[in-house]
Amino acid sequence: MGFVETEAIVLRKYNLSDADKIVVVLTEKRGLVRGVANGAKRLKSKFASSLEFFSRIHIHYFEKEERELVSIRNTDLVESVFGKLSNPEFYDAFAEIADLLIRFTPPNEPNERLYNMTKHCLMAGASNEKYVKSVKVYFEIWLLKLGGFLPEWNECAVCSRSLTGDTATGMGLDFRLICSDCERPRVPVSYVIRDCYNFAQRTGPKKFAKRVDERETDISGLAGVIAKISDAVLERAPTAAGTYDGPEIDAA
Ligand SMILES: [Zn+2]
Repeated sequence: MGFVETEAIVLRKYNLSDADKIVVVLTEKRGLVRGVANGAKRLKSKFASSLEFFSRIHIHYFEKEERELVSIRNTDLVESVFGKLSNPEFYDAFAEIADLLIRFTPPNEPNERLYNMTKHCLMAGASNEKYVKSVKVYFEIWLLKLGGFLPEWNECAVCSRSLTGDTATGMGLDFRLICSDCERPRVPVSYVIRDCYNFAQRTGPKKFAKRVDERETDISGLAGVIAKISDAVLERAPTAAGTYDGPEIDAA
């Protein structure tokens, strides 16, 4: 409790009143944090432009016990992606990433690996617009992995044989893989999908995106599989825990 200074990424803003905003940030030291920025809507606000969507900032805030909303004292811009937001592909991908972070992450629980992963995805996505799609898939894989929800795809879930090379596989109901000797694949998972899935877990987002781009890999198959796993996880763990349910006053 008390004052906290940390790096953070701005995920969402709501208007709280005529002058104030509620800001949702992913912080390096405290995980997902919701805070009030007093006067943020005023023209000459001390927060200036540092509260833009997906800006990386230094944030200084005060937290009180038993209170979920912290009080933001000041913020300094570290890096802005404002120039990228006009690209709809970038905007949509990162809006979805923000949404997933808010839904998956319990508030005020430090998770430095999640922060660094998100930061590197942001930097990779901003570095080259061709990377955006694969960076988003990379992010989703790691969000599941860090939450302990990502199934191991190294061996058959039934006979435990290791799945190497071009072994034909399908996905079971629990999202683990089953080799074609054990079961005729209902949802086939190709070698390319498996290879990308495993490569993403061994490398950084930029290297992953670069390889996908250079080899012209079609990652929509992988994206579809990952989306299915995310949906199933979110269904089991209802969103209420991490979501700000207050009114969307921004439209007012
Ligand atoms: Zn098998």
